[in-house]
Amino acid sequence: MALGDLDIVYYLDGNNVIIRVENIDPLGLIGRGYFEFSNDEMLRQLLSKIFDRVRKFNKTFKTTYRCDDEENIRIFELVIEPLGKNILKLTHKLFKKEPRPHSLDFTQRSDLIYRMCAWCDKIFYNDRYIELDEAVNKMKIFEHNFLPRFSHGICNDCQKKLLEELEEFSDESHSS
Ligand SMILES: [Zn+2]
Repeated sequence: MALGDLDIVYYLDGNNVIIRVENIDPLGLIGRGYFEFSNDEMLRQLLSKIFDRVRKFNKTFKTTYRCDDEENIRIFELVIEPLGKNILKLTHKLFKKEPRPHSLDFTQRSDLIYRMCAWCDKIFYNDRYIELDEAVNKMKIFEHNFLPRFSHGICNDCQKKLLEELEEFSDESHSS
């Protein structure tokens, strides 16, 4: 994918289908799912969770991610804006570009493993669980050469809630 210095914009409907683009050839893009073009399952999962949160809280989310070309390390800024009716506007802006060292090894995998709460998607960071969107930026998750892996756990809040629900459940079954 050739990227110039123009911002590339995608508009997605509520099902993350591309309905309009700017500064990129629309041929073969309109009517396709935004995630059809990503072959990284973890990236898809993370982004779709973030899209859901942007729609739910009707709040713009900004992050940076890394997408190199053959010669350069490139950092892009991605702005995800809710436009109402579940439509999202995604703006990809080239933020930083520098020559890439030739010794980069593409066969390596990230050995970073982050812990994510399986119930609320919060991520463990500095001794506590924080919201996914906060974690993405604090930990610069999308700027790694390789996406980190996640292991699933449960945060304190969800554990507490779950235990309370279990208690209520067993109370109810006693009284009936
Ligand atoms: Zn949780």
